[in-house]
Order: sequence, then C-alpha cells, then structure tokens
Amino acid sequence: MKRRIILLGPPGSGKGTIAAQLQKELGLAHVSSGHLLRQEVESGSSVGKRAKGFLEKGELVPDPTVLEFMSNWMQSAPLDRGFMLDGFPRTLAQAIALDEWLDAKNAPIEAVLFYSCDLALALDRIAGRQSCPKCGRVYHVRSAPPKVPGRCDGCGAALVERADDSEAVLRKRFEIYAGQTEPLVEYYDRQGRIVVIDASRPPEERLKASLAALN
Ligand code: AMP
Repeated sequence: MKRRIILLGPPGSGKGTIAAQLQKELGLAHVSSGHLLRQEVESGSSVGKRAKGFLEKGELVPDPTVLEFMSNWMQSAPLDRGFMLDGFPRTLAQAIALDEWLDAKNAPIEAVLFYSCDLALALDRIAGRQSCPKCGRVYHVRSAPPKVPGRCDGCGAALVERADDSEAVLRKRFEIYAGQTEPLVEYYDRQGRIVVIDASRPPEERLKASLAALN
C-alpha cells in the first residue's frame, strides 16, 4: 500500500474530510499545513506573526516562511508510518523542495490524490463548515455533523467557523489556487503519480476511489 501521499484540490474539495477517513482506515498521519499555521498564529510564534495577515486575507503565506516551517516538520516526518499532506505543497517551489527533502531520505511521495471540484460545489461545501481548533477535525452542519452539535467528536472542544471561509475570501482563495496550485497537477502527472477523483461524488464513493488508488 502507498503510504506517503499528497491530497491536492481546491478549498472546499473535501480534503479534510477524506483525510480523517483515511487516517481512521489506514492509520496514516494527517498533516494539514493550514491547521499547523493557524496553531502558530494562535501561539504568537515568529512564524505565526509572519503568517497571520496572509491567512486572514486568504492569501498564500510566502514560500520562505512555509518552507522554514515545513522543514521543521520534515525533520521528524513519520516516513515509515506514512502521512497525508493536506494543503502542502501549494506552489511549484514548495513541490520541488518537498521532492528534494524526501529524495534525500529515500522516501519519495508515492501517490497524489487530486480531488477535482468547481467553485459552485466548493461554495456549497464551505457554507456550514465547522472545524475543531484543537485537533483540526472538520465537520459540516448538514453533510457531516458532529454527534453533539457544536462539539468535536474526538476531543470535545467547541467547534468554530473559520474566519477565511466567508464567500468573498473563498472566491479569492479559489482564484489563488487556480493560479498557483493547480499547475502542480501537471507537475505530478509528469511524474506519473496523480490520481484524479471527482470531488462531487458522494463521500463513500470518494473514500472507495481513494483507497483503491492507494492499494
Ligand atoms: P487551508 O486550511 O489548507 O485552507 O489553509 C488556510 C490558509 O493557510 C491558506 O489560505 C494560506 O493562507 C495558509 N497556507 C496553508 N498552507 C499553505 C502553503 N502550503 N503555502 C502557503 N500558504 C499556506
């Protein structure tokens, strides 16, 4: 089974939900750069201070800051257990740096699952999205509600709606995705690692297609 994976797709394509399901099924670590960056902002760290304004505006945090931050994660990446990268890489420079780090450890990315999704579907998904500020689990008031409304099933923390999930900010994040992140589809396609999954399919079908791609 493939254990070093990238989850690629626009905001609202359901990467967070599928990551939680794959984590449960396969025991892979879920690494969400957005969640890690929000924690840095909360803690007021040096990276957090530099990243804060970009997160609020829905813009990409500049590559040097992201690479500094993610290279710390790479030092202790669970290469044997396996991991799903969600939200990283987001630019060509990040993808190249990631390949270099992993090649040096003889542990390259084995599959890139690309969840294709248009803006209308993303807007529908994101209206009603809630997430746990503590453990990062993602819920949806209609399609994936928590057992107790407003509380995380995993750790019981009060759920929040992300400040950058407003329609205006989402439209901007989508545009940035199309310009900066979508070229990665071609980059990984050339490496023969991409598997395209239609993000509009029902959750159980998306999970089935994702598991099939990893086996
Ligand atoms: P996400 O939770 O993946 O939607 O990320 C939320 C926000 O964190 C993004 O809108 C960016 O501001 C920032 N971010 C997360 N990952 C990256 C990355 N790989 N490169 C640049 N900015 C990022």
